[in-house]
Amino acid sequence: MFDIKTELTTNPKEKPAPEELGFGHFFSDHMFILDYTDGVGWHDPRIVPYQPISLDPSAMIFHYGQSVFEGLKAYVTVDNDALLFRADQNFKRLNRSNERLCIPAIDEELALEGLKQLVTVDRDWIPNNPGTSLYIRPFIIATEPNLGVHPSKKYHFIIIMSPSGSYYKEGINPVKILVEEQFVRAVKGGTGEAKTGGNYASALKGQEIASREGYAQTLWLDGKENKYIEEVGSMNIFFKINGIVITPALNGSILPGITRDSMIQVLKFKGIPVEERQISIDEVVEAHQNGTLEEVFGTGTAAVISPVGELKYLDDKMSINKGEIGEISQMLYDTLTGLQYGSIDDTFGWTIRL
Ligand SMILES: *Cc1c(COP(=O)(O)O)cnc(C)c1O
Repeated sequence: MFDIKTELTTNPKEKPAPEELGFGHFFSDHMFILDYTDGVGWHDPRIVPYQPISLDPSAMIFHYGQSVFEGLKAYVTVDNDALLFRADQNFKRLNRSNERLCIPAIDEELALEGLKQLVTVDRDWIPNNPGTSLYIRPFIIATEPNLGVHPSKKYHFIIIMSPSGSYYKEGINPVKILVEEQFVRAVKGGTGEAKTGGNYASALKGQEIASREGYAQTLWLDGKENKYIEEVGSMNIFFKINGIVITPALNGSILPGITRDSMIQVLKFKGIPVEERQISIDEVVEAHQNGTLEEVFGTGTAAVISPVGELKYLDDKMSINKGEIGEISQMLYDTLTGLQYGSIDDTFGWTIRL
């Protein structure tokens, strides 16, 4: 259907040992590229050996940050298949990010086919120790050599892949989170809904402040009233208060996580009450004071679930569920990872076996 040319490497790299994987250090032997030129459209889909790319110093990506990215994983299942999880949703979201950043839409079918062929070529790069996976990073950068401020006339769409270690080598340990009061991640009307590098650059400061105080991540409040909860680090956030699971509604500045959406669907399927609505930090503080704040957790592709054991807001250090992972958090983690590693039957239609 799509004509994707493949040039195999003549010089395969040695694969890292499972225990030294970590995150984002190693890259597989091949990458997928697709180019865009104004007037021609997206063209020349190809799989080539992983290699540096050469760009003019005036390439627009270096100056005005016109870029978008995605993050997903390939897993080896218990039956030794390669599996992708909701990959179609990643390319759908990539196009929504493209729209916001004035980048021409990609053909989602072509991107998915390119990814499937790339994963097939580098199948041996998916590590198969428990909890490990092949992290996949599709991204688009503006490459037109030009300092004028306008949408670029040239782009590269590239997919690279990185074998990653288990996020939870020593079991799932809840993290300490600092509520950020000075800086914000995004505002309604800004780029918070798009997966674009600039959002990450502007979040580094909050991360630095949190780290300095001994906290793992920042909890971001809304940019207008500094009152409503948005996200935690680069994850979506959920609270269980008095038996009800609550996550901030997608309000224009929150990144619509695919893990977030999966959690909501699993909760509904299991008959656990779940609400998408505005939730203020005051409501969380109050729930903590009256003993109904039962669980807090972040969700995202990298960790699946990251339970919060302590939340610090102003001078108030709130301990959550005695610093242990909660029942719902554990159930959601087990369900999602069960689907991803193929040990649970996929009744949702979320998995693509290769
Ligand atoms: C990618 C991302 C998430 C999580 O999205 P998933 O699709 O669940 O991985 C959440 N928040 C931000 C800011 C993100 O960039």
